[in-house]
Amino acid sequence: MATIGVDLGTAQIRSVLMEPDGSVAGRANLKTPRNGDRLAIVDVLEASVRAAIDDAGASGGDIAVVGVATPGVVMDGTVGGAANMPGWTERFALKEMISQRLGRPVHIVNDATAAAVAEHRWGAASGCDNVFFAHSGTGVGSGLILGGAPYMGGHGGAGEFGHMVVVRGGATCPCGRQGCVEAYAGRRAMELSARRAVESGRETVLFALADEHDRGRVTSGVVKAGLDADDELTHELVRDAILALGTGIASVVNLLDIDMVVIGGGLGDKLGDWYHHRIEAAMRPNLFLQPPQVRMVGAAMGAEGGAVGAAALAEEVGGR
Ligand SMILES: [Zn+2]
Repeated sequence: MATIGVDLGTAQIRSVLMEPDGSVAGRANLKTPRNGDRLAIVDVLEASVRAAIDDAGASGGDIAVVGVATPGVVMDGTVGGAANMPGWTERFALKEMISQRLGRPVHIVNDATAAAVAEHRWGAASGCDNVFFAHSGTGVGSGLILGGAPYMGGHGGAGEFGHMVVVRGGATCPCGRQGCVEAYAGRRAMELSARRAVESGRETVLFALADEHDRGRVTSGVVKAGLDADDELTHELVRDAILALGTGIASVVNLLDIDMVVIGGGLGDKLGDWYHHRIEAAMRPNLFLQPPQVRMVGAAMGAEGGAVGAAALAEEVGGR
C-alpha cells in the first residue's frame, strides 16, 4: 500500500504518492487559494491528493494513510496559531476534516517537523541524531530531531524558533511580540520593515523590482535581485536577518548540543551558500562548546521535503 504526503504551504499545496520503498511515484502541485476560508484550502488539498494519485496511475484504494504537513501548532489532530494561512489562527480539527473528505486515516504534523524528518532520513542531515532544521520563508519555523526521533514537546509547541527573542524590546513580530527571530528574518516582516523605511523617506529599488518580477510582492527572488542591484536597504534587511538567525541558532545549539543545522526555506534556497556561510559566521562567536562540534548546511530535499517527511511519518504512525 502506498502513502500520500501533503505539504500545505502558503503559496502552494504539494502532494506526493510514496511507495513502500520510499520512492515517489506521483506528484501534484496546486496554488494555495489566497482568499477564502479554511474550506477553500481543504478543497484544493483534496484536489491535490487526487491529482497525485492520478499522476501515479493509482487509485484511492491503493492508499493506506495520508500525512499532512501544516503550518501552526499541531495538537491531537487539531491545528492553530498559523497567522500566514487564512483560517488557521483559531484552533480547529484539521485531521478529522481531511479524513472525512478522503475516507482514509490521516496524520497531521507541523510542516517544519516534517521537513526535518525528510532531511534526517534522506537529506542533508542523514546519519546525524540531533538535528535542527530552520526554515526561513514567509515566516520562520523549525523542526527538531533529538536522539534520532522528531521532538514536538509536551503540547506540540516545540520548535517555534521564529518566536525566540533575540533582541529584547526589538522590532515588532507578526505574532505581536517584540524582538523575535521572525521579526527580522521572516520575508513578510522584512517586507513590512522595507515599507516603513520608505514611508520615513529611505530610498530603495526593492519595490520597483517587486513590481517588475512578482506583481508587487517582495518574494525571496526579489530580495536576491535587490542584493544583486546593490540596494543599500536590501543589504541592511538581509544583514539583520542573518544576525537574528545566527544569534538564535547559537542559543539552540548551546541548549541542545545539535550535530547538524539545516537551513531551508525560500530565502535560504535563493541566496544559497553565501547566506548559509554568513549565518554560520554570525552563529560561531556565540557558541559555548569549544571547539564547535556543530555543522551547518543548506537543505537538500528541496521543495518536496515537507510532503515526503509527512508521508514517512504517516506511514510509521498510521492515522494517529
Ligand atoms: Zn514572534
